[in-house]
Amino acid sequence: MSAKIIDGKAFAQDLRDKIAQQVAKLKADHNLTPGLAVVLVGEDPASQVYVRSKGKSTLEAGMQSFEHKLPESTTQDDLIAVVEKLNADPAVHGILVQLPLPAQIDEAAVIAAINPAKDVDGFHIINSGLLATGQNAMVPCTPLGCLLMLKDTLGDLSGLDAVVVGRSNIVGKPMAQLLLDESCTVTICHSRTKDLPAVIGRADIVVAAVGRPQMINGEWIKPGATVIDVGINRIPAPEKGDGKTRLVGDVDFDAATDHVGAITPVPGGVGPMTIACLLKNTVTAACRQAGIDEPDI
Ligand code: NDP
Repeated sequence: MSAKIIDGKAFAQDLRDKIAQQVAKLKADHNLTPGLAVVLVGEDPASQVYVRSKGKSTLEAGMQSFEHKLPESTTQDDLIAVVEKLNADPAVHGILVQLPLPAQIDEAAVIAAINPAKDVDGFHIINSGLLATGQNAMVPCTPLGCLLMLKDTLGDLSGLDAVVVGRSNIVGKPMAQLLLDESCTVTICHSRTKDLPAVIGRADIVVAAVGRPQMINGEWIKPGATVIDVGINRIPAPEKGDGKTRLVGDVDFDAATDHVGAITPVPGGVGPMTIACLLKNTVTAACRQAGIDEPDI
């Protein structure tokens, strides 16, 4: 059997098209243009690429994009002052502070300063608490994207055995919560898990969010299972030339594809969905702040 390759790029484009339609409708019906503010501190090249890409996608969806670039030397108080200004700005419905932040700034303190209603990353503890209690949270973008792809691939997830490998606050834990809300039987694995191959071998759904290249052996995965690979790892690619690299996931893709049911590739799987879900969250935030019913995207 050859696995279905879940095309995250195409899925994300479809989602972005639907978001753009809803944004146009919000403008026409309610004179509301969702706005996303992205704050970047310092010169980290990867962060600069992400921020540029987020700004471009926001504008392409017909939304307003606000970029705040602050120097590496920015103090925590100065950054929180910027966040508070954005909290008070009615044109800004979503605020994203690009992580990681320079060492002198406490990330938790900055996230806590964001108005939870504008926390489109879903990292504020109010949103974690709302998610954990099954209420109207802003859901972190990466796990939200994973869930949308799983539901599109499998339909009803209820009763399925799901294993999430990784327990970070931004991916593993919210992913497990979302799967639980879909009535999966959820197991969360981490670096102290005993016999990871056996746990993974029982799963109908495997979500890998570890950050270790091709760590999950394809042979461990049950035939027919659905695999979502969140990992983004750069490894040497001598076949492309001296010093060249390529991106791989946390799952050994080649060994998995001959027997799993469906799998996301890296790149082109979860990554594109993360930005699409950021746009979706910004629309959700704008509607909630304006007291308008959220569009069904
Ligand atoms: P973290 O480093 O915060 O968490 C990694 C998790 O993996 C930890 O819970 C850790 O366990 C667990 N782990 C480490 N080693 C093992 C092991 N040998 N066996 C089982 N579990 C293990 O990473 P993130 O959650 O932030 O990110 C995970 C990956 O996803 C990274 O590659 C990251 O780049 C990628 N990512 C991709 C995104 C996208 O848009 N596609 C967005 C966000 C992340 P423990 O808690 O015990 O240490």
